[in-house]
Amino acid sequence: MKGLNKLSFKFRTFALIKKRKKMSIITQNISIQKVSKSRISEVNFKNLSFGQEFSDHMLVCDYKNGVWQQPQIVPFENISLSPASKIFHYGQSVFEGMKAYKDKNDEILLFRPLENQKRINISSKRLAIPEFPENYFMESLETLLKLDKDWIPTTDGSSLYIRPFVFATGNGFHASPSDAYKFIIATSPSGAYFSGKVKVLIEEKYSRSANGGVGFAKAGGNYAGQFYPTQLAKEKGYQQVIWTDDNTHEYIEEAGAMNIFIRIGDTLITTPTSDRILDGITRKSIITIAEDAGIKVEIRKVKVSELIDASKKGELKEMFGAGTAAVISPIAGFGFRGEDYELPTLENSYATQLKKQITNIQYNRAEDKFGWRYKVKE
Ligand SMILES: *Cc1c(COP(=O)(O)O)cnc(C)c1O
Repeated sequence: MKGLNKLSFKFRTFALIKKRKKMSIITQNISIQKVSKSRISEVNFKNLSFGQEFSDHMLVCDYKNGVWQQPQIVPFENISLSPASKIFHYGQSVFEGMKAYKDKNDEILLFRPLENQKRINISSKRLAIPEFPENYFMESLETLLKLDKDWIPTTDGSSLYIRPFVFATGNGFHASPSDAYKFIIATSPSGAYFSGKVKVLIEEKYSRSANGGVGFAKAGGNYAGQFYPTQLAKEKGYQQVIWTDDNTHEYIEEAGAMNIFIRIGDTLITTPTSDRILDGITRKSIITIAEDAGIKVEIRKVKVSELIDASKKGELKEMFGAGTAAVISPIAGFGFRGEDYELPTLENSYATQLKKQITNIQYNRAEDKFGWRYKVKE
């Protein structure tokens, strides 16, 4: 009897292991179709621009019959859509922007990726797009990154830019939400996003967003709406637009598609997020790092008139944009009502200090005090 019990016990543990193995296959329910030949040798990794080259594979997940289907990794290739696809007519689309880094131990690192996972669903909800299952996002992303690991550049300032996006694929000219969607993650080996110091124009006519609108979402149409006013600013000799509030145009809101920081005296100020202002991960991180470094940070509204006054008194020391692509993009000066205001060039600016600190965490060159680094497990 004893022997039999032992045997059946053994058998049961074996069955359990088998079951567990199967379960891990179920959670990794991503089918993979590899490229027959990698394109990696065609790419010059020593001279990468931003977002122009694309890695071998992409992740695709379709939504149909009311559910997100099995995610699939396939070669990066063109997709075919009906001219009646709702994305073309009603612009139901949202996206995210993130980066993967490789450290000197060849580990794949991400920076606060769960924030992007949360935010794509916040954006989707506002555009009446079904939310992407939480557990799918990280698993899809990690599987894709491991497969295209060799595409993560390692030269200073470079990274693998990651673009998750969702758009309406359902057909029909009726203005109503689509019944089908595609979620894609495509990646792009990219060099440092370098724009130099930009001259910006404070915009008083056009608005990026409005109360009750979609400004807080990373919705494709938000960017389309910015292009024309930005073109006009470029014709006047500026590289970027500073958005003001749509109601009074008296308050500073964002710098192009980045959050804005202003240094008056030794205080660093950034505008509070709202319906109209995107809740940037770089912005949040800069606030934490700056406060930790003993810099006085104020999260409050800033009037254009306050900027002008501070500039005239010589107290306006710095302005910069903050976002994943450039991390920090310094502003050289701004134009307002036909006048130009210059910013001083500082030795050890907050922009330089903060960029260094945040990128050191991202690239695993510094202690990760706040638990922001995310290691992709092999
Ligand atoms: C993406 C974005 C930002 C920056 O967000 P991060 O999470 O830091 O990349 C800021 N403003 C707008 C309008 C954006 O689209």
